[in-house]
Amino acid sequence: MPSRSRPDGQGGGRSSRGGVAGAGAVASAIPLNPSTKALSYLGGYPPALLQQVQGLIDAGTLGEVLRQRYPDVHEVRTDKALYDHVMERKARFLRGADPVSKVAYDSKLQVIQHALGTHTRVSRVQGGQLKAKREIRVASLFREAPPEFLEMIVVHELAHLKEREHDKAFYSLCTHMAPHYHQWEFDCRLWLTARSLGLWA
Ligand SMILES: [Zn+2]
Repeated sequence: MPSRSRPDGQGGGRSSRGGVAGAGAVASAIPLNPSTKALSYLGGYPPALLQQVQGLIDAGTLGEVLRQRYPDVHEVRTDKALYDHVMERKARFLRGADPVSKVAYDSKLQVIQHALGTHTRVSRVQGGQLKAKREIRVASLFREAPPEFLEMIVVHELAHLKEREHDKAFYSLCTHMAPHYHQWEFDCRLWLTARSLGLWA
């Protein structure tokens, strides 16, 4: 996937909607260094927001705050279930988009920074015609994620069927499919941060 995942400058209202519940109550006395490993999933977000996150990390409550907001676990546990899940949304929102030949959880997919999932375009010659075959792979850790984060990944990868870059058209499509897309992406990054720090049991 393209390396950029930030909808910077698109006025999505992320900074106003992307706050952390209860974060305002926790002040961090530790100088913030956004390049620290702990915040590597959150590059590109406003410093004030990252400071709230650092406060929750310092207080050890990041996992709790997320658990309160996202208490559920989805039931999309198998590749077959994931395929059906993705195809239902494709039929609903992206009827005319390229066919998807494969959908699967991938344990080899490393979730680092912006690489949350992958979409591949495999060209094969079929009957003299070049046809694009599309595959959607989702990192295995999302098998046990709150349903909102799986939905965010699915919507992201589906949007790439029509929009290659992370541009305005891409994020418009994401928010069309999932109105809370930006909040979910931010909170998903918080969840990945919490996991990496052992704050999500
Ligand atoms: Zn992408």
